[in-house]
Amino acid sequence: MLPTDLPGLTLKDAERQKKIIELVSPLILTETQQVRMREVFLDEMRLGLAASPEKKSSLLMENTFIPELPDGTENGEYLSLDLGGTNFRVIYVLLEKGKAKKEMVDFYHVPQEKRMGPGDELFDFLADCLSDFIHKRNFQGRHFELGFTFSFPMTQKSLDVGLLVSWTKSFNCPGTVGHDAVKMLNDAIQRRGDLDITVTAILNDTTGTLVMGAAMDRRCALGMILGTGCNGCYIEKVSRIEKWRGKHTEDEMVVDIEWGAFGDNGVLDFIKTQWDRAVDDQSLLVNSYTFEKYFAGKYMGDLYREVLLTLAKNGLFCAASVESHKEGGILAKHGAITTTNISHIESNTFEGKQDVTKELLTTLGLKFDDDDVTIAQYMAGLLSYRGILMVSLLVGLLLKRMEREHCTVAIDGSLFRRHPRFRPLMEKLIAEFAPGRHFNLLETEDGSGKGAALTAAIARRLRTKELR
Ligand code: BGC
Ligand code: MG
Repeated sequence: MLPTDLPGLTLKDAERQKKIIELVSPLILTETQQVRMREVFLDEMRLGLAASPEKKSSLLMENTFIPELPDGTENGEYLSLDLGGTNFRVIYVLLEKGKAKKEMVDFYHVPQEKRMGPGDELFDFLADCLSDFIHKRNFQGRHFELGFTFSFPMTQKSLDVGLLVSWTKSFNCPGTVGHDAVKMLNDAIQRRGDLDITVTAILNDTTGTLVMGAAMDRRCALGMILGTGCNGCYIEKVSRIEKWRGKHTEDEMVVDIEWGAFGDNGVLDFIKTQWDRAVDDQSLLVNSYTFEKYFAGKYMGDLYREVLLTLAKNGLFCAASVESHKEGGILAKHGAITTTNISHIESNTFEGKQDVTKELLTTLGLKFDDDDVTIAQYMAGLLSYRGILMVSLLVGLLLKRMEREHCTVAIDGSLFRRHPRFRPLMEKLIAEFAPGRHFNLLETEDGSGKGAALTAAIARRLRTKELR
């Protein structure tokens, strides 16, 4: 099987095969659905950029206040923070001519009570980590400018003001929505009183990825994250952003699309399956981040489990494990299968092997026959295929819209990095969806470290320009 083909299913039991294909057919997007999805996305983009849209778009299309990318003049020492997943990172970067000459990173685990508790406590925790980092390196008494990668939707008022729109993924701290994340961090730093740090830039992780990508390749105009969550940003002509008319003199601006929320107003319901509903129902923030929940790392494992659960309930999967789909059974257990498991199964499929898949089923305590293993691999491929198709549709549209001679697409995130189907299938589908457009996918690492430091350096450059 070629890695880019829509997976097929061949079981020993033909009757069972027929039933399964029928049951999971809503997971295969038809041509018509794909066309509709394109139209809907373009319309949501239009509404999101409009000055007075006739209805609210599910796309934020947010100003990042980054009008220019690295040009190789970025110098100096910076700190960066990265908040978005369960690991929080504090980073030191020394830039010389736009290149990171030195980097130091510490990881801190953000416990659940901080991710879900009062905002003050979360930001105090971040300031504590910052202080720990500074003291460990004997940086006390030194002044630093800091770029804050905050991987959540925000409304930015300037490069250093970002009002939280909503939490996503595994965060939900009461009393913070609508507040400026920079101010909340600065306040926490003040409360500690032992740090001399100025937050000069707040950015989304996609923006950090784009900035990082642009430092590696000048042709980069699109940044995206395929990880726990999913999102993208791109360079837009300010003349096409109706809602900013008269407010900006720059020619171009990086726009954070926040496509994870695509469909939150119901426009994508036409592809929603019973399994997507089940995943949403069990998620931390129900009825939000529709597009992201279709395939991002935080959710695909559960989606997969939900599909297998339905098959099992219908006697079509692991029939020998009678308890597996009952209440308390492994297939009914939220979080029992992760997206990393799917990446492993897919790698196994691509090697033409089944050992890893069998091992996983065994670890889950499932009794399986040959067809069960084939089904487990098929479903991992099918769900992955759907997600990759969706995200490639969006990228294709953006490439067409930007009309660049060549567009480098910077991508970061564990899903892209670890899942074997993403790169080859994206390359194939994007080329189909944006015929004649030249592009390449550039895997960037560390947009939130180096990209954030570069953004803090750009902030410094913009301030100097203003003063002139
Ligand atoms: C957030 C985005 C972020 C993405 C990837 C989403 O849940 O809303 O701001 O870029 O995850 O981390
Ligand atoms: Mg991240």
